Amino acid sequence: MTTPAEEIKDNTDDIVSSNVSDRHFDVAIIGSGPAGYTASIYTSRAKLKTIIISGSLPGGQLMTTTEVENFPGFPNGITGPELMVNMQQQSERFGTKIVIDEVTRVDFKNRPFKIYTGSEEYTADCVLISTGASPRKLGLKSEGDYSGKGVSYCATCDGPFFRNQEIIVVGGGDTALEEATFLTKFGKSVKIVHRRNELRASKILQERAFENPKIEFIWNSAVVDIKGPSKVATVTIKDITTGAETTLNAGGLFVAIGHEPNTTIFKNQLDLDERGYVVLNNNTRTNIAGVFAAGDVHDHRYRQAITAAGFGCMAALDIEKWLSETRGK
Ligand code: NAP
Repeated sequence: MTTPAEEIKDNTDDIVSSNVSDRHFDVAIIGSGPAGYTASIYTSRAKLKTIIISGSLPGGQLMTTTEVENFPGFPNGITGPELMVNMQQQSERFGTKIVIDEVTRVDFKNRPFKIYTGSEEYTADCVLISTGASPRKLGLKSEGDYSGKGVSYCATCDGPFFRNQEIIVVGGGDTALEEATFLTKFGKSVKIVHRRNELRASKILQERAFENPKIEFIWNSAVVDIKGPSKVATVTIKDITTGAETTLNAGGLFVAIGHEPNTTIFKNQLDLDERGYVVLNNNTRTNIAGVFAAGDVHDHRYRQAITAAGFGCMAALDIEKWLSETRGK
């Protein structure tokens, strides 16, 4: 009987010795959130030579989250970065190669599939797309001008920079309310600007925000301008019902209005829906045989770490089955 440590060593040796090229993989996973890491734990453990090309921020969106209270197995919660480092270590334990790089281009026309980063080319018999989603932008020119100079998309990352300042959060979903509540730890006041008079956020987060004396809601309003000079100093909002504009003093503007899937590099390569999410036909299969997708890049409904991890597991099992069927022919 082998010990767990010996079993890991055996797996790793098999993975290394069964392949001649160090740039060819059974499975290439693009993206390193919960979906990608979970899939890699399964595929590497199944002795499939697996690479994760992580993107420039390994760990994905959870790297910018403070406390994760709803991931099962952590009764006292765990921080997002800790959870992702745990997943990475668990993945590496079974032999996954992790490369911190951005994929710039893919070629899914022929097998093996080709995946290009700025400096390398990899090939793979199977690809899992788990590139997740990125924060949506307001689309104002001034938003771009002041990005990193008071405009932020991540309260966890940037909140401490706004101590004793007036802060504005845009959005009415869970993220906006969670971030606003978090930001009250630092800011003098937090105003939530929402385009409707009704929130999308869950009841528990609404209650917390309504009870917080530092939070004020500005309903039916949109941000129309941001001014400096060198960093954010004022934010102009427009009442959508009356058209009236008001300029508020603010040192920080946190945009929390949802996400867009990271699928630009897959356009014209596989089926995407009208919002850019990867379309799945048969469980985790895309329209291209051998290319699978999991997590927020496909799922705009649930978007939870645990559901992304679950989709990653499903994709890995589908990949194992597909590879054994294809190779068996
Ligand atoms: P979301 O649920 O899509 O909410 C986005 C919010 O931004 C909505 O209130 C929307 O307004 C508003 N919005 C969208 N585009 C806008 C624009 N161009 N200008 C102004 N406002 C705009 O996104 P999310 O809050 O990031 O949440 C995403 C998912 O993650 C959800 O499933 C959520 O439950 C989950 N999540 C859960 C937790 C938690 O459980 N602790 C924390 C964070 C996120 P409308 O309401 O008018 O559409």
